[in-house]
Amino acid sequence: MSVFDDAAEAGEGFVFSEKPIQIESGEGVHLTAEDSTEYLDFGASYACTPLGHCPPAVVNAVQEQAAELLYVQASYPNGARTELYERLGAVAPGDISKVWLCNSGTEANEAAMKFARSATGREKIVATKRGFHGRTLGALAMTWKKKYRAPFEPVAGGVEFVDYGDSEALAEAVDDETAAVFLEPVQGEGGINPADPDYLQSARDLTEDAGTALVFDEIQTGMGRTGDLWACEGAGVEPDILTTAKGVASGLPLGATLCADWIADGAASHGSTFSGNPVVAAAANATLEELVAEDVPGHATMVGDYLTTQLEEAVAEHDLPVRDVRGEGLMIGIEVKRGANRYLRDLAMDHQILALPAGRSVLRLLPPLVINEGHAREVVDALTEVL
Ligand SMILES: *Cc1c(COP(=O)(O)O)cnc(C)c1O
Repeated sequence: MSVFDDAAEAGEGFVFSEKPIQIESGEGVHLTAEDSTEYLDFGASYACTPLGHCPPAVVNAVQEQAAELLYVQASYPNGARTELYERLGAVAPGDISKVWLCNSGTEANEAAMKFARSATGREKIVATKRGFHGRTLGALAMTWKKKYRAPFEPVAGGVEFVDYGDSEALAEAVDDETAAVFLEPVQGEGGINPADPDYLQSARDLTEDAGTALVFDEIQTGMGRTGDLWACEGAGVEPDILTTAKGVASGLPLGATLCADWIADGAASHGSTFSGNPVVAAAANATLEELVAEDVPGHATMVGDYLTTQLEEAVAEHDLPVRDVRGEGLMIGIEVKRGANRYLRDLAMDHQILALPAGRSVLRLLPPLVINEGHAREVVDALTEVL
């Protein structure tokens, strides 16, 4: 039995401590439980399945690679890993082309911290209130929520938090001792808070002036989630480091830290035994290939607009207890007037729809990007009823 399963977070995490749903299989946008009940997965299991569950091209690539070679130490080049370096380098925003591979989001951010510190020779990091960057002691130091941080202190030092979206506060915090500014282009865990493109641009301008690395944590926003492959592309702002994980290998454990040359050239030694594991790399190659070839981000824009419009109409028409509907593409937050948890439970139990919370009062929708308008409609109707 796991000590730290999701049910342990049931307070504001998930709702199934009272009736666990044991999931045994998945196909496309659906998950099937042990008792054969089929659920529409509108959380994409924390945005980890942009192409849906068990996309055939990814499953095939994994099976073939597993039969060929499960693992080889990272110091020997391997076809799947080399291909992934190239693919990620090719789709990375702007001039970024250097790739560091690891096994999770938090490790990708740890690496970003280390690379920024060593490339700049500075220590200070600026992060944002309500931000989430992971749970190892470096990334945790940049994660805002006290509940996650306080029991484990001391975490890594040198981190200052500023209000998200406030360019002046950022300008005040960043100086010539700042190694990096870490931002999510849309805050995920913090309640689905999209940044104004002007804010991201001002972060770009002032970090450039200060010789500071701008890091975009796209672990949740990336892989097409917001309607562009990377959310920063939609805003037209290029970071020095971009971190990705979650959906990049369709749910297999992979994180990547994508770096501009000046970061990669100045970074001190870092390493990980599993970096670029061939099977996981094969999954990521197949995921990226399909995502790009089928313009899945474009589809996410279209269905996301439809879903948001339908939600807003339902809220207005039925006078639902909703404060705000916000987000980008298929990263949507519905801020409700009371706790979100009971709505999530009703969605799951009465409508077989799985969604996520983001804090106490926000329902978070992060469906697979391949949903169609019918699925969107089904969820709007169900939400109308439970709300
Ligand atoms: C999930 C998440 C992380 C942490 O990723 P793990 O793989 O759980 O370590 C970091 N940043 C953001 C924005 C995330 O959504």
